[in-house]
Amino acid sequence: MSVTLHLPAPLLRELREQAEEARPHEACGLLIGRREPPSLLALHPAINRGPAGRFLIDALDLLVARDRAVSEGLEVLGPWHSHPGGDCAPSPADHAAAKAWPGSLWLVVGRSIRAFRAGDGGLQALLVESEEQGDVLQSPAL
Ligand SMILES: [Zn+2]
Repeated sequence: MSVTLHLPAPLLRELREQAEEARPHEACGLLIGRREPPSLLALHPAINRGPAGRFLIDALDLLVARDRAVSEGLEVLGPWHSHPGGDCAPSPADHAAAKAWPGSLWLVVGRSIRAFRAGDGGLQALLVESEEQGDVLQSPAL
């Protein structure tokens, strides 16, 4: 059974705006919500400490996001980042970084938006749906 992530339209717009503002660099941030079933409820901003073409979330942003999530009865689900080139496929660096955060949710914002769950085999694609699109944005069959 495939897992579907519901992406609220305001968050979809915010992700696209932040990705656009950061061009030509990668934007990044943290996803706040509930884990099962995956439910994305808020975005938390983060400074990108990575070199050009990479992202590295500032550790303080992660701690602040975690405090915020806990105070709202939620969790930090994982990171999101943009691919200014438009291709939403996770890079080898993304797969490697995902191993350090098992079970985390990853969103990659490019021409489209794709969601992944970090597992033993790297990042596994999830279905994404949003009211703005009216249907499923991506299928897990890559
Ligand atoms: Zn990436």
